[in-house]
Amino acid sequence: MKVHVLTLFPEVIDMLRSYSIVGRAIDSGAIDIEAVNIRDYSVDKHKRVDDYPFGGGKGMVMKPEPIYSAIEDCRSSNSRVIYLSPQGKILDQAFVGELAEEDHLILLAGHYEGIDNRIIENYIDDEISIGDYVLTGGELPAMVLIDSISRLMPGVLSSEESYEIESHYEGLLEYPQYTRPRVFNGKKVPDVLLSGDHSKINMWRQVSALRTTLMKRPDMLKELKKPGSQLDLMDSLLKLIGKR
Ligand code: SAM
Repeated sequence: MKVHVLTLFPEVIDMLRSYSIVGRAIDSGAIDIEAVNIRDYSVDKHKRVDDYPFGGGKGMVMKPEPIYSAIEDCRSSNSRVIYLSPQGKILDQAFVGELAEEDHLILLAGHYEGIDNRIIENYIDDEISIGDYVLTGGELPAMVLIDSISRLMPGVLSSEESYEIESHYEGLLEYPQYTRPRVFNGKKVPDVLLSGDHSKINMWRQVSALRTTLMKRPDMLKELKKPGSQLDLMDSLLKLIGKR
């Protein structure tokens, strides 16, 4: 996948190259990230990219011409153009999965009071938010999006790091995880995890995923994607209490 990030701070996006799994995805060629400086497209002799808002008011607005030129310069026949925006659809795992299928993403990171609305209306396919709060700029949201997509690229995660068992992938939160020592500050790891009985461990994990979701995010249970998974969990619960 090719990703262009249109930004006023390309050096921030470039930091991804040395960051954990995303860096690995870039090194392996699974994802190719190019930070494009919107300022390079300004034809203003002072390289200005912002101006005062029409109608008055505080702050500055990003001008449309450099953004338009940057988008058109990066655009290919199969590009999906995304503006990171607090007004967008909130990113979730299903949306990440959809975007991971694309060949080419153009991510536009805004700044100041945002961008001229004519760009949003005419040249943007999706507005995506990473949550209902306002950040200074779209670089961190773009990096969040790139990180979440990179994990889904074939060959990026090792088999030990598989994303299929993680929170949100199948509509539940993940079961609790433990590592050594067996006893920490007097608190023991659940006995079943030390039993070596893999069918019991699997059952415990399924039930614990359900319990964790029920306790932390009960809203997710209403949205469970696969009705089958709900039935499997009920089955595991019944087995655990000896009713099946
Ligand atoms: N004036 C805008 C508004 O009220 O909708 C907010 C502009 S914000 C200070 C500057 C830039 O940060 C935006 O153009 C956008 O690219 C980015 N941004 C801020 N919060 C975001 C969020 N929750 N999700 C995605 N992008 C965000």
